[in-house]
Amino acid sequence: MRIDSFRPALVLLLSCAFIIPAASQSKDKPLLGFDPEGAAAERTLEAKFDSLLKRENLRETMKRLSARPHHVGSPYDKENAEFILSLFRSWGFDAQIEEFQVLFPTPKVRVLEMITPEKFTARLAEPTLREDSTSAQTSEQLPVYNAYSIDGDVTAQLVYVNYGVPKDYEELQQRGIDVKGKIVIARYGGSWRGIKPKVAAEHGAVGCLIYSDPRDDGFYQGDVYPQGAWRNESGAQRGSVADMPLYPGDPLTPGVGATKDAQRIALKDAQTLTKIPVLPISYADALPLLKAMNGQVAPDAWRGSLPITYHLGPGSATVHLKLEFDWKTETIRDVIARLKGDERPDELIIRGNHHDAWVNGASDPISGQVAMLEEARGLGELAKSGWKPKRTIIYCAWDGEEPGLLGSTEWAETHAEMLRKHAAIYINSDSNGRGFLGMGGSHTLEKFINEVARDVTDPEKKISVSDRARAVQLLRGDKNEQREARERADLRIDALGSGSDFTPFLQHLGIASLNLGFGGEDGGGSYHSIYDSFDNYTRFIDPNFDYGIALAEVGGRTVLRFANADVLPFEFGNLTDTVGQYVKEVTQLTNDAREEIKEKNLRLSDGTYAAVFDPTQPFVMPKAEQPAPYLNFAPLENSLARLQESTRKYQTTMMQLAAQNRLPAQSGALDEALIKVERAMTREQGLPRRPWFKHQIYAPGFYTGYGVKTLPGVREAIEQRNWQEANEQIGIVGQTIENVAVEIDRATTLLQATR
Ligand SMILES: [Zn+2]
Repeated sequence: MRIDSFRPALVLLLSCAFIIPAASQSKDKPLLGFDPEGAAAERTLEAKFDSLLKRENLRETMKRLSARPHHVGSPYDKENAEFILSLFRSWGFDAQIEEFQVLFPTPKVRVLEMITPEKFTARLAEPTLREDSTSAQTSEQLPVYNAYSIDGDVTAQLVYVNYGVPKDYEELQQRGIDVKGKIVIARYGGSWRGIKPKVAAEHGAVGCLIYSDPRDDGFYQGDVYPQGAWRNESGAQRGSVADMPLYPGDPLTPGVGATKDAQRIALKDAQTLTKIPVLPISYADALPLLKAMNGQVAPDAWRGSLPITYHLGPGSATVHLKLEFDWKTETIRDVIARLKGDERPDELIIRGNHHDAWVNGASDPISGQVAMLEEARGLGELAKSGWKPKRTIIYCAWDGEEPGLLGSTEWAETHAEMLRKHAAIYINSDSNGRGFLGMGGSHTLEKFINEVARDVTDPEKKISVSDRARAVQLLRGDKNEQREARERADLRIDALGSGSDFTPFLQHLGIASLNLGFGGEDGGGSYHSIYDSFDNYTRFIDPNFDYGIALAEVGGRTVLRFANADVLPFEFGNLTDTVGQYVKEVTQLTNDAREEIKEKNLRLSDGTYAAVFDPTQPFVMPKAEQPAPYLNFAPLENSLARLQESTRKYQTTMMQLAAQNRLPAQSGALDEALIKVERAMTREQGLPRRPWFKHQIYAPGFYTGYGVKTLPGVREAIEQRNWQEANEQIGIVGQTIENVAVEIDRATTLLQATR
């Protein structure tokens, strides 16, 4: 293969001399942060770690943890936390449960009925299946609902809004369709579900329904449960609709830990509750509603796979939606387990996965939880046989992730000061499937996690999980991805938006973070449904827990290497390369916006628009726009040049030390400086209109929720065509990148002092 022929020379040139040739797991391969001797010892330790992992433990633990519904506030959620605590203690960890009191509404009244053109009452329930042994636990199951929807009792005409994201409303507006005073029905997908009621309310809608269209999440994709893994017609997706891009966590304690005595705001002042009532439904319940609608036929791209003509409404279909919730406070239980470091006990290596679910949660989250627990058991065994980590390791089983990242956020907010000072890395996982390793995170960790991925073998293909991920990129990537898979030493990792417990660590506290998990081969599932069960998971997702073990091997190595390394294995070349790409992208985004506006205004003035639209259909002529001004990107470009220079100096110094097979002596000070690099990417004032999000390089989009916006302050201002704010944010982000370069220089100075 071509990659191997040039790699050694290039890698040595490009980064620290501790990087590796390709896939063989030979003991003498260098490791970031270790000298050659240390690297060999680390690999011996990791081989022993692998030999300790047992797939039957994953199966048994999943069976136990997913045996009953374990949502926030349920008896089994409490039991699971106590069971996990007992496991950690039995493995030699110093473990406690930390409790928080959070707002957790559950439904008292849910009514959805069609009034016109005919009567229909939605079932709003998932039937029991003979083939699924836990599906009959009806009395313990949470009903199908969206947590943090407000109470409401509304009757109005239905309007179909596709995914219900901002650009869908532009399309509706152009077609003369206004959702003011209407109830909108949106299909799942395309964004965080909380975005749908948010944008609908911004456009004046009075209610929102969200359904799973089989085109995205059902029979169009494959056989449905119990024949296959895909969502059947009665399956529905529960889920939070809190406005998390504003701030995650308990809605009543923004920015502070929801401890017993915490100051709480009044329910009416909670910003992250929806502004309109919202309810999720199955496609069996959605079909009669969508079928009864008339009006314009939906655009091609909006049509799903239900056996109907998709119409937009408003018109014949009128529905009544009534919701009432029990707005109570519940106790959540995070299990926190420590293995104290000996040389640098103050430095923290934090690993987490949530344990709460919406129902039985075999896939989400227990598949990741059991892999993390087996990791911890392996580390416990190593410790019993004499191994001591240099740095302190903390394993965290989070509660309350499903309603809004509650357990991780309240813990991070409660211990913010300590974590800002001492946390070196946070490593997250959540659901785990089968297939390809997904790697997301801080780009100061890109080279590190690529190194780990080269050392873990894919259970199906017996090649490294790195080579397997590269192979899929070579075959299925776009042109640029294919080129990079051929030429780039490291696979690019995804920038992190939100959707799991890494958010409070990365985007609020500025702790370098990773999000890991396998997937892409396990064909669908029943996300947030009663059918996400042990039976479903062991039949269709990872029957032998092969990828559970693979995740434990990946997660275990990330923890071991960060805990044992002589110097924290951060690297800045990939970061600088990536930030350089982002700067290019936002510059191009402005140029594209300018061209787009120019073209539109021209087409409006030369009659092209008027010439095209179908006169038999309602059409609203778009309005001409102010031309986009030229923005001054110099502050960003100058700070990028500064970052490139700082990175070059750091790498050169590291390589000189490597050439002498030496590592800096007083690494404690260097570690501290390295930890501060990611902190420097944050700004106390946070992002515009959302101060909780402090990271200036990565954030979930204000209107995506899951999807990441990189250089969010600049990028979102440009997307919103808020040119004045874009100018301000260019200065702010430029200064932030400058601050990052300063921290890297500080580390270089410490390195040079040891030469
Ligand atoms: Zn999850």
